[in-house]
Amino acid sequence: MGERHHDRTMSPENHSFRTVRASSAARALNLIGDRWTLLVLYAAFRGVNRFDGFVAQTGMARSLLTDRLARLEAAGVLEKRLYQERPARHGYHLTEKGRGLFDAALMILRWEERRSGEPAQRVIHKPCGCVLKTEMACKACGGVVSAREVTVAPEPGAGFDPAPPPRAQRRSIAEGEGRGDPAVERAVAVLGDRWTSYLAAAAFYGLRRFGDFQAELNVASNILSDRLGRLVSLGVLEKVRYQERPERWEYRLTGVGRELFPLIVALMAWGDRWLAGPEGPPEVLTHAPCGQRLEAVVICAACGGTVGPETTAVAEAG
Ligand SMILES: [Zn+2]
Ligand SMILES: [Zn+2]
Repeated sequence: MGERHHDRTMSPENHSFRTVRASSAARALNLIGDRWTLLVLYAAFRGVNRFDGFVAQTGMARSLLTDRLARLEAAGVLEKRLYQERPARHGYHLTEKGRGLFDAALMILRWEERRSGEPAQRVIHKPCGCVLKTEMACKACGGVVSAREVTVAPEPGAGFDPAPPPRAQRRSIAEGEGRGDPAVERAVAVLGDRWTSYLAAAAFYGLRRFGDFQAELNVASNILSDRLGRLVSLGVLEKVRYQERPERWEYRLTGVGRELFPLIVALMAWGDRWLAGPEGPPEVLTHAPCGQRLEAVVICAACGGTVGPETTAVAEAG
């Protein structure tokens, strides 16, 4: 992402309570950016809708799964439907709001493919019959969207949201191995922790230095050090010395980190649609090559056709 139009009055230092810059991507991540929530959603997109199916697909403990299903239902992402009367049994189905996360789910798979060089999941694009490789394109001009060609500016809905409460009840990504699909584990490691995901988003706004991240996110320095280290070990950021005496370091997005951009765009689009208040979205993206407000669409790299739940199918193994 290019220049951020900074307005000093928007600076978090001017607030006495903990806040984070309002961003639709951050709002979306605050709702779904938890490893178990992401794994449940991923299973739901694969057609799982019964409790035992979610257990089998994600490896989650039943109490944990009950908690995440309830949260997703409360957020309007899943809805309960009766599939058996006596005894009463419910399935969990994606709502329209939930199905709106399809692009983000595709971008998680795309990132894992780019990172590992192998298909994360064999998904078929039905109109052309090819194994799906996705690109994110600008709806106005059809050009492929890259971080370097998109600028961000504040909108009337700009400002600060209260910092999310600590997830005391949620297991940190540092604890225990998930038994979820390995294809999404890596993306979950970045997104499933609010500070790593906010940091990755801040890096796209051009922030590189410890003090700048700290001012932007209003985060304690021990947490910031830990999460920067984690993003370096995940290959999303690299630590580069920019001054010798005294030694000073900055954190730059790597190629793998830059590939997260379409995912952040997909999360922003969803947050703009479903989570913005009456004042509208907090910021707007512009596609520099055509000068239009960026409305991103996911397309099939092979045929250029649009990609949605109805035009894709998961290929059978073997
Ligand atoms: Zn464009
Ligand atoms: Zn296609």
